[in-house]
Amino acid sequence: MQITEIYKSIQGESTYAGLPCVFVRLTGCNLRCTWCDSEYTFTGGHRMTIEEVETEVAGLSPGGGLVEITGGEPMLQERDVAPLMERLLRSGYTVLLETSGERPLARVPNGVIKIVDVKCPNSGEPDTFDSDNLDALRPHDELKFVLSDRTDYEFARDFAARHDLYSRVNAVLFSPAFSKDAAGARDTSQCLLDPRELAEWMLADNVPARLNLQIHKFVWDPALKGV
Ligand code: SF4
Repeated sequence: MQITEIYKSIQGESTYAGLPCVFVRLTGCNLRCTWCDSEYTFTGGHRMTIEEVETEVAGLSPGGGLVEITGGEPMLQERDVAPLMERLLRSGYTVLLETSGERPLARVPNGVIKIVDVKCPNSGEPDTFDSDNLDALRPHDELKFVLSDRTDYEFARDFAARHDLYSRVNAVLFSPAFSKDAAGARDTSQCLLDPRELAEWMLADNVPARLNLQIHKFVWDPALKGV
């Protein structure tokens, strides 16, 4: 499979935020989100076998722990990534899969926790989520919405209610988008949507979603890769 990088850091998002995590970042994406902070994954990378990836993960986190399969869009390499996830599960890892939900998710191994990033109107890639994937969701999965303004918020609020997401999955995550050129300051000044404003909208509407800040961008320089 084509890999951009494998590294260990702190998980920045989801209900697993704050935990040590090995990230396996696959090369290539079929979307072009306006605020994408992973454009460096679109091309390049290097070929690795499933066994080589597994060995590198084991070196960084011996004996188990948290692993996130991300990209790019990892499901573009489903033929290799599905058996990799199976093997990691069998070796005792907790496996997260970060995906846009544009590709079919039905064949993702049952034990994998899917973090599905449903694209909102201002992402530049609206309506790319495959609604058939709603049937592939399991109670341990999480749905994420990256929001840049009130239009995105209302889309996420209404999508979650319409599809009864709160009873289907472990968490619905509302995440303020960061400027793609964010660098230097490790604070909310580089969020496209002020988290305080988002929190106030959520409280006013009684939305039971979880406010999801990308904590790695508050711990390290937001421009830093490999963290
Ligand atoms: S799906 Fe992810 S990697 Fe692909 S363009 Fe959007 S934010 Fe970037």
